[in-house]
Amino acid sequence: MSSPGAARHPVKWAWGGIDMPVEAPIAAQDELNVYESAEARFEIAAQKLGLEQGIYRYMRYPEREITVYIPVALDNGLIEVYTGYRVLHSTVRGPGKGGIRFSPEVSLDEVRALAAWMTWKCAVVDIPFGGAKGGVICDPAKLSKSELERVTRRYTAALSDWFGPERDIPAPDIGTNEQIMAWVMDTYSMHVRQATTAVVTGKPLDLGGSRGRREATGRGVMICCNKAIEQLRMKREGCRVIIQGFGNVGSQAALLMHEAGYKILGAADVNGGLYNEKGIDIPKLYDWVYTLRKPLQEFDGGEKLTSREILFRPCDILIPAATENQITSENAHRVDCRILCEGANGPTTAHADAIIEKKGIFIIPDILGNAGGVTVSYFEWVQDRQGFFWRESEVNERLQDVMEHSFDQVVLYARAHNVNNRIAAYIVAIDRVARALKLRGFYA
Ligand code: NAD
Repeated sequence: MSSPGAARHPVKWAWGGIDMPVEAPIAAQDELNVYESAEARFEIAAQKLGLEQGIYRYMRYPEREITVYIPVALDNGLIEVYTGYRVLHSTVRGPGKGGIRFSPEVSLDEVRALAAWMTWKCAVVDIPFGGAKGGVICDPAKLSKSELERVTRRYTAALSDWFGPERDIPAPDIGTNEQIMAWVMDTYSMHVRQATTAVVTGKPLDLGGSRGRREATGRGVMICCNKAIEQLRMKREGCRVIIQGFGNVGSQAALLMHEAGYKILGAADVNGGLYNEKGIDIPKLYDWVYTLRKPLQEFDGGEKLTSREILFRPCDILIPAATENQITSENAHRVDCRILCEGANGPTTAHADAIIEKKGIFIIPDILGNAGGVTVSYFEWVQDRQGFFWRESEVNERLQDVMEHSFDQVVLYARAHNVNNRIAAYIVAIDRVARALKLRGFYA
C-alpha cells in the first residue's frame, strides 16, 4: 500500500495545518503492563516519524471496547459468570482482525495491547485488516469440552452484532484452538441465518480452514530467522536455537526449523524446560507431547530447567513463543544470543529494549516475527470468500513472499532511520495506517 520511500522521507501530516508534532515519548510507568509497553514503542516511533498530534491521538485510542458477562451452566448444574472482552483497535485499513485468548490471567489492558499490536502487525505485512483482540477470563484446562463449548457460544452470541467477515474477524490465540473456532463459526452462522465461514479464521480444514494455517506462525518465525542469518552471514546448519513455549507457535517453529537444519538446544512449556547442547530430537519430543500426551520435561533428552532459565542459556537464536513479559529489565542482561526472534506477542518489555539493543542483539520484533499467522488467516478469509481453496504449496509460497518482503522493508527502514528493527517495524506500520487515514479523511 505504501512505498519504501514513504517512511524514509516521512510526510508531515498536517491535520488542517494547525497540528503539532508528537512530544517526546513517556516511558512505560509499570514495566509489566503490556498496554504501557505497547504505548511506549508507539510513541517513540510516532515521534521519529514526525506524526502529528491529531493523527497520534486518533491512533492511540481503540475504536471500541466491549465487556460481556457470560453466564454458563456448568456440568454440575451450577451457574458461573465469566467476563469476556473484545477490543476493536482500528478499522482504518480494513475489518478488525485478532485472536481470542482464554486464560485466567487475561485482562482488559492485555486485550487492549494485543488489539493495538494486531493493527501494527497487519500493517507491517501490508494485509487489508485493522486490529482487534478478545479474551475470556477462564481456565480452559479446568473446563470440560461441553463447558468450553458453552463459554465459546455464549461469548460469540454476545458479540455477534459486532463480529462479521467485513467487521471483526476472530482467530485462535492462547487457550483456544480450531474446535473453538468451529463453534464460533457455527454460533455466528445460526445468528445470521446463513453459513458464514469467513467470520473467523484458524478453523478446521473441513470447515473452510486454510491449508498451512496450523504451521503458519511457526513457519513465519523460521522465514524471518532464515533472512536474519543470511543478513548476519551465519550458517543455518548447526545454528543453535532455543524456543520457549511448545504450543502452536513454538512446536511448529521447532519442527520446521529442526527439519531445515537448525539445531534446537532447548524447548520449554509452562511446566518447565529441557536443554541439551547436542540438540533435542524435536519430532520425537513432539510425539511425546502431542501423541503420547506426556509432560515435556519428562522427555529423556536433556537437562531439566525452569521455563524462565531456558532463556539465558547461550544460543544463536532465542525464540520466546509463550507469553508476555519474559525478558525484562531485571534479566535482559542474561540473554546470550545473536538473534532474538519474538514468536509470542510482547515477550520483551519496553524497559528491556535498550539492554537488548546495547548487547548488539538483532531483534525480530513480534509484530513482524509472528505475523505469519495473521497472514495465512488473511489467505483463509480470501479463500472462504472466493469459495476456492489453494494448495498448501501455494499458501506457503505466498506466505514466504509476504514475510521476506516485510522483513526487507523493516530492515531498510531501520537503516534509513537509524533505529532498531522494533521501532522500524512500528514506523512502517504507523506510516501505512496514517496514509490510509489521511486518504479516508475525518468523518464528523
Ligand atoms: P498455545 O496456547 O498453543 O501455547 C502456549 C505455550 O506456551 C504452551 O506450550 C504453554 O505451556 C507455554 N507457556 C505458557 N506460559 C509459559 C511460561 N510462563 N513459560 C514457558 N512456557 C509457557 O499458544 P500459541 O498460539 O502458541 O501462542 C503463543 C504466543 O504466540 C502468544 O503470545 C500468542 O499471542 C502468540 N501468537 C500466536 C499466534 C497463533 O497463530 N497461534 C499468532 C501470533 C502470535
